[in-house]
Amino acid sequence: MRNLLVVPPSSEILPDDLGLAQRIEYTGRICYKSEDKITPDSSAGFCRDMTGHKHNSVLEMAVRSYWFNINSYPYMNEILKSIPKYLIIDEVGIGEWFITGSVRAFREMFMWFPDNAIFQAIAFDINKSHPYFFEDLKKILPESAPANVSYRQIPLEEIDQMSTTIQARHRHVAVKFIVNRAVTHEIVRHRPCAFLQESQRYCRYGSGKFGDRVTFIKPMFFKEDSEGYRLWEQAMLETERIYLDLVNMKDENGKNLYTAQAARTVLPNSCKTELFLYAPLTEWHHILHMRTSKAAEPSMREVMVPLQQEFITRWPNQNFGEPLRMPEGHVVQR
Ligand SMILES: Cc1cc2nc3c(=O)[nH]c(=O)nc-3n(C[C@H](O)[C@H](O)[C@H](O)COP(=O)(O)OP(=O)(O)OC[C@H]3O[C@@H](n4cnc5c(N)ncnc54)[C@H](O)[C@@H]3O)c2cc1C
Repeated sequence: MRNLLVVPPSSEILPDDLGLAQRIEYTGRICYKSEDKITPDSSAGFCRDMTGHKHNSVLEMAVRSYWFNINSYPYMNEILKSIPKYLIIDEVGIGEWFITGSVRAFREMFMWFPDNAIFQAIAFDINKSHPYFFEDLKKILPESAPANVSYRQIPLEEIDQMSTTIQARHRHVAVKFIVNRAVTHEIVRHRPCAFLQESQRYCRYGSGKFGDRVTFIKPMFFKEDSEGYRLWEQAMLETERIYLDLVNMKDENGKNLYTAQAARTVLPNSCKTELFLYAPLTEWHHILHMRTSKAAEPSMREVMVPLQQEFITRWPNQNFGEPLRMPEGHVVQR
């Protein structure tokens, strides 16, 4: 009898040392499971393709933070009136502002407010080292940095030295999950986050690259030698056989009869899915508390309980072990 490919669920915090474009490529390739195509020079082309194809959520996987001075006040006022949902803005001193956003958020804000000196400055700054994000906006990009605002990019190490509240709101963390499809359905309900996940439309598990196998996540509900596990295994084997029959079926010209998106309609919740979640520490606090509580789904708790411990260890000042409370000293909400 054919063996089932079963893996345990896991979660892992993505290191911070990837550059903007490398990070976008590394996380973006999870959708296609094409990480094998990463080379030392591949990130620019990947970012250009993603921007050109409007696969915009990939551009949410890298954020930048900027400091602006008092001269920016009228421009900041204009931004705040628009209630930007995907920017984090704080007044950090008299007439001093912090603004954090993803490449996508800054690109789109620049499109909507092309005359706003703050977005001109940010677009100009990102474009200097990453022009592939702005090729379609070349005509409206400023040729030099706007003279009417002072600004600078804030490195992550500096954010980590700031107050607990500022760090919580501006410091973003990405986690890679390998979980079943039921767990990913629940994780993606957390709206203020950015997500990328393995696509069952693009990944054709019948192809050689996937070893002609579907991978399943070990269910935590059944002991391995139990009748429950035997029944689960039987169901997965049968499903895998039907899926592979569908993707390998040929028409009279020897061409594939069905796409992966057609065949995936038979795939079950136990299917292995890789997913990146990228969010500020405030949102992680919310997620970890909600998803480690006794009321949470047990397969969710299986990955979130150890992850919460990891967050407690890495950011001891953020009280990840305690229930969420409103941050103190907070001036301007996003
Ligand atoms: C035990 C349990 C059972 C569940 N059962 C079901 C179910 O049967 N069916 C189902 O559909 N879902 C269910 N859910 C999902 C649940 O309702 C939430 O959608 C999900 O957990 C996302 O969390 P969230 O809404 O707190 O916040 P997030 O989306 O993570 O939002 C974070 C914060 O942003 C703010 N926010 C975001 N969006 C809005 C908004 N539109 N309006 C106001 N504030 C907003 C809130 O302050 C919120 O705390 C369940 C969740 C749990 C933990």
